[in-house]
Amino acid sequence: MHLCRKTTLTFLVLVSSIFLFSDSAQARRGKTTFSKMTIEDVGLSGKTVLIRVDFNVPLKDGVITDDTRIRAALPTIQYALEQGAKIVLTSHLGRPKGEVVPELSLAPIARRLSELLGINVGIAPDCIGNEVESMVSNLRESEILLLENIRFHSEETENDPVFARSIASLADVFVNDAFGSSHRAHASVVGVADYLPTVSGYLLDKEITYFEQILNAPEHPFYAILGGAKVSDKIAVIENLLNLADKIFIGGGMAYTFLAAQGIEIGNSKLEEDKIELARGLLAKAAEMGKEIILPIDHIVAEEISEDAEVQIVTEIPEGMIALDIGPQTRELFKEALGDAGMVVWNGPLGFFEIDAFSHGSRDIAEFIASLDAIKVVGGGDTASCIESFGLIDGFSHISTGGGASLEYLEGKILPGVSIINTQSD
Ligand code: ADP
Ligand code: MG
Repeated sequence: MHLCRKTTLTFLVLVSSIFLFSDSAQARRGKTTFSKMTIEDVGLSGKTVLIRVDFNVPLKDGVITDDTRIRAALPTIQYALEQGAKIVLTSHLGRPKGEVVPELSLAPIARRLSELLGINVGIAPDCIGNEVESMVSNLRESEILLLENIRFHSEETENDPVFARSIASLADVFVNDAFGSSHRAHASVVGVADYLPTVSGYLLDKEITYFEQILNAPEHPFYAILGGAKVSDKIAVIENLLNLADKIFIGGGMAYTFLAAQGIEIGNSKLEEDKIELARGLLAKAAEMGKEIILPIDHIVAEEISEDAEVQIVTEIPEGMIALDIGPQTRELFKEALGDAGMVVWNGPLGFFEIDAFSHGSRDIAEFIASLDAIKVVGGGDTASCIESFGLIDGFSHISTGGGASLEYLEGKILPGVSIINTQSD
């Protein structure tokens, strides 16, 4: 019975794929075999399009404090509007854990989106049910309805197939544009793709293009800069990039476990004792592969992590001191070695950048990379906000919009929300 339903559905999806997908846009994009299909590869006129966006914006007392994520979804929504689609938007907001939490309603987001687009965006009372179905069927071309917070239902994170099917039944095509959620196999990201032709939106397409290049066809010399708080968060990223990159630069808190592995005194700097062996192993592996791992040679240290701490520049970390940024000699060393880069990927701030006195290493390297004529990609939530705080976004080719998702991509994992995008051969 179940199999039979699945076969029928597969057949329907195939038939509708042939009906919906035009190959002209694909030809224009000039892509080669089996490229992932984008919103431009599908006919949208008069179709109901379900677009999964990432509207998980910060809210304070019901007011949106940063609408970057809403703005980031505009190109895809605007394209669908221009094509005359009936648009159904879906997103989560916060962690309501399967309960209706009124403070996590998407109503303020619908209002903000209306302002940004200059047209009315309706908000549904829920994301499933009769009322929602009739609201969707009353949509006219180039009208938009935002479904209520998808995580008000626990079936979302459980990727419940019945739930996914009822969401999918609202539409003719599925567009995933929520990169930040694409490492999660949730119903509105992955489950719905079982029932609908599935393409990427502009935001997701840009992420896929850059990360696939890093993983499959990096421009050499390809350098990876890794920093941030902990080695343990980044083990799989380091291991994967060690295979791909020509050199690896390590800074930030994680550098000190590597230095400790070399027998260097690190004072009270961040140390993960249980990762010393692993760090030693990675250094040995790199040496075996003939690849350089470049570690800090001097440091900005302080007795405590605070705004008004007294800082010193040192080459040897004194007892009791914490290294909180790379020093000036390290910056010069990094810059010299980065100069001929064809491609740079950067994950993890090089110092405790939240405090001005420890932000100079990250800022100097960010400015230098911004000036390079190379493909420059940033992954990681804190690294992205660090570069944003320096006002250097325009100096980079791509700043990933997904913290966790970008890390999993760099680990070489296949993201569920990316693997569901239909491919098309030329
Ligand atoms: P991302 O989110 O970009 O992946 P992480 O979360 O791994 O980056 O790391 C960011 C954090 O690392 C920042 O909060 C920063 O203060 C911290 N950090 C950077 N350098 C150091 C250091 N030397 N000591 C302690 N923490 C550091
Ligand atoms: Mg982080």
